[in-house]
Amino acid sequence: MTQESWLLRCIECGEEYPGAGVRYRCDCGGTLDVLHELEPLRGRVGADLFDERRGSRAAEDRSGVWRFRELILPVEPRLMITRGEGNTHLYDSPAAAAYAGLDRILLKHEGENPTGSFKDRGMTVGATMARVLGMDRVACASTGNTSASMAAYAASAGMRAFVFIPAGNVAYGKLSQALAYGARTLQIDGDFDAAMTLVEQVCAKENIYLLNSINPFRIEGQKAIGLELMQDLGWEVPDWLILPGGNLGNSSAIAKGLSEARELGLISQLPRIAVIQAAGASPLYRAFTTGLPLEPMEADTLATAIRIGRPLSWKKSLRGVVESDGVVESVTDQEIMDAKAHVDSAGIGAEPASCATLAGAKKLVARGVISRSDTVCGVLTGHLLKDPDAVVGYHKGELNEIRSNYANAPEPIPATLDAILEAIHRD
Ligand SMILES: *Cc1c(COP(=O)(O)O)cnc(C)c1O
Ligand SMILES: [Zn+2]
Repeated sequence: MTQESWLLRCIECGEEYPGAGVRYRCDCGGTLDVLHELEPLRGRVGADLFDERRGSRAAEDRSGVWRFRELILPVEPRLMITRGEGNTHLYDSPAAAAYAGLDRILLKHEGENPTGSFKDRGMTVGATMARVLGMDRVACASTGNTSASMAAYAASAGMRAFVFIPAGNVAYGKLSQALAYGARTLQIDGDFDAAMTLVEQVCAKENIYLLNSINPFRIEGQKAIGLELMQDLGWEVPDWLILPGGNLGNSSAIAKGLSEARELGLISQLPRIAVIQAAGASPLYRAFTTGLPLEPMEADTLATAIRIGRPLSWKKSLRGVVESDGVVESVTDQEIMDAKAHVDSAGIGAEPASCATLAGAKKLVARGVISRSDTVCGVLTGHLLKDPDAVVGYHKGELNEIRSNYANAPEPIPATLDAILEAIHRD
C-alpha cells in the first residue's frame, strides 16, 4: 500500500492527518475528507481503463467500487474484502417518467447490491480499511441498512460485528439481515442519534473500528455510485442527479467523487444534485431554504432509512449541493408512498426512503426547477424487500395517516372456479 497517496483533511479547520490510521474526527471535532493526490493520476486513469476493467474477469476489476480504486483507495487486491458490489442496473422507466412529469428518467437501482442497499459500496472499503489497519472488530449505529451491510462484510472477512440499533423503527428486512449474518445486535433504548453517540464512545474506548459514515473511507466507496453512473452513461453528464438524504453521507460522497472526476477531466461538468428529504426529517432542507446553520430536529417519517434529525454529514452534503448549483427539497410521507407505488408497479421496486427520489423529481418538475426535457437520473437506494411491512400496509390501507391512493390489495375469494373466473373478468 502506498500510504503517501492520500491524506485525511478536516473540513472545518483544514488540519491534515496521515491517511492510514484510526481517526474519524479532527482534534477540533470536525469531520474528515480523504484527500487524494490527483495530479499523478492524470493521463494514467480514465474512461478507457475503467471501461476495459468492466469487461475483465478479475474481482478487483469487476467490483463496481474497486474498478475505480485509484480514485477510492489504492490498496492491493489481496487486501480487498469484496462481494462484487455495484454493477447495478440503470432503469429507463417511461412509467416513472410520466408520473414525475418528465420526458425521461433513468433510475440507478442501488438496491441491487449484495445486501440490498448502496451501503455495500461504502462497506467494502470500510471493511478493507479495517483489515489494512489490523482491526478485527467493527461496529456501527444504524437505522438498518448499514448494519445489514456491515454484518455481511464482517462475516465474510471473519471479523466480529456489533450493531447498535434504535429500539423500534427498524424495518424487518434489515434487522433480519444483521441477526442472520451473526452480528451482535444491541437494541438501544433510544433513537438513532443516541445510538450514534454511544457507538462512537464504545469504539474509542474498546479500539473497535467504527464503520458509520463518519468513517471517511465509507464515503470514498460510495463515490463509486456517481462514477459508475457516469460510466453507464458513456461519461455524458446528465442535467440532474436526484437522491434521498438522511445522514447525508451519500450525497456528500457522490458530489465528492464527481468533483474529483471533473478535476481529472473524466467528465466536463457536474450534474446538478438534488437532495430529497422526508418532511418529517428535513433539517438540511430547512438550512438550505433559510440559509441558516443546520438546526437538529426530532425525526419522524415512515421512510426509516432517512429518519435522522441530526445528520452527521450535512456540511459536506451542502458543499456538494452548492458546488453543483443543486437544490434540497422535502416531500411528505404521502408523496413518498405514492411515488413508491409507481416505482414498484413499474416493475422496479424499492424501499420507501429510495422513493423520495421520484417524489422529489415530481415536486421539482411541478415547481419548475426541473424542466420536462432535462436529462434526469435518480438513485434508488434500497431494495423493495427491505421493508415488507410498508408495502403490505400501504396496499391494505393500514398505514397511519397515509391514503392508499394506488392500492393493489389482496382480494379474499371463495375457493371455487366460478368465483375466480368472475373475479378475473371483473378487471
Ligand atoms: C442509508 C440510506 C439512505 C440515506 O443515505 P444517507 O447517506 O444517510 O443520506 C437512503 N436510503 C436508503 C435505503 C439507505 O439505506
Ligand atoms: Zn479541524
